[in-house]
Amino acid sequence: GHGGDEEQPQPEPETGAANTFVVAHHYNELKEAGRKDRLKSKIFFMRNFNNWIKSQLINEYMGKIKEQKRVGDAIRVLDMCCGKGGDLLKWDKASIAHLICTDIAEVSVEQCQRRYQDILKRAENSKYAHKFTAEFFACDSTLVRLRERYKDASLQLNLVSCQFAFHYCFESLAQADCMVRNAAECLQPGGYFIATIPDAYEIMRRLKAAGPGQRKFGNDVYSIEFENDADELPIFGAKYQFHLEGVVDCPEFLVHFPTLVKLARKYGLQVLRRSTFAEYYKETLPHGRHLLQRMSGLETVQVNRVANDPEYAHLKHLAGTNRGKPVGTLSKSEWEATTLYLVCAFKKCKNTWDA
Ligand code: SAM
Repeated sequence: GHGGDEEQPQPEPETGAANTFVVAHHYNELKEAGRKDRLKSKIFFMRNFNNWIKSQLINEYMGKIKEQKRVGDAIRVLDMCCGKGGDLLKWDKASIAHLICTDIAEVSVEQCQRRYQDILKRAENSKYAHKFTAEFFACDSTLVRLRERYKDASLQLNLVSCQFAFHYCFESLAQADCMVRNAAECLQPGGYFIATIPDAYEIMRRLKAAGPGQRKFGNDVYSIEFENDADELPIFGAKYQFHLEGVVDCPEFLVHFPTLVKLARKYGLQVLRRSTFAEYYKETLPHGRHLLQRMSGLETVQVNRVANDPEYAHLKHLAGTNRGKPVGTLSKSEWEATTLYLVCAFKKCKNTWDA
């Protein structure tokens, strides 16, 4: 039949994506920290909190997908910019049937694949564990048409997830267009695209609050620094350097949300949700409290050792006190860093004009 959007003229990726090399290099060089190093991190609780937010988001839309389906129907997911596979266990828990993992950093994709194989091995040893098939490839989602790399190009997806990565495509219109098309084109009608991205409004609000003429703001765990005068920011390529204690030091781009909504509509994606992390936390805490407590990692911190070891000085305030109080575990700096983000969700419509 009709391929649909193949006939539409596509913007040329002529800008050359200079920054994507910087980003890929940065993530390829990142060392995988062991458990002890993670505990030492100043953003230990923020990482757990972000992980909880992703779980809440995935569970929310997975729940909607399961409502549409009959028991036993296969669920297929694309994890776009999967990194080292931080969400693999979430996909496992959601009992999906097939997963596609892709990221620009080939070292990360390899780690992700190894983690998947570990999960499979564990599943083999347990008769209750669930198994799912998966495929992995490294590529730039802002330049390459992902569908052409799938084992089955006619594959219909139920969910596309892009966590803490979608903003890299706002370098240029061509890249953003390509990324949104990748998110949309294999989604079955009624399927969802979910993402977590920095909140451009919040970033601009904090920049203004930093004072006239300022290009930089932040605290002891994160900083954001604009290259150019922040008064005349373009819609695409509004570049800033993002630094997050020990994990990220990368150029990023503001995501102009109304433009994202327009691009999404072009590919049949209708916006359903745009919530800041602070809002989403408030909204989902009532049914996510248990999970947050488990994920906040408090049980695993050996409180007494923490209290006496200078390496864990930043966790000292937790000793003996904060058990069971999830937010209390995030430092003020961590809370400021995590509330830079928002969650968003889109639904794939039958016809692009419905979006
Ligand atoms: N989604 C993972 C998670 O939540 O743990 C990883 C998030 S990490 C902050 C951002 C990821 O985006 C990195 O793994 C990076 O390599 C990837 N990335 C950045 N630009 C990309 C691009 N143009 N195409 C594909 N992946 C990209």
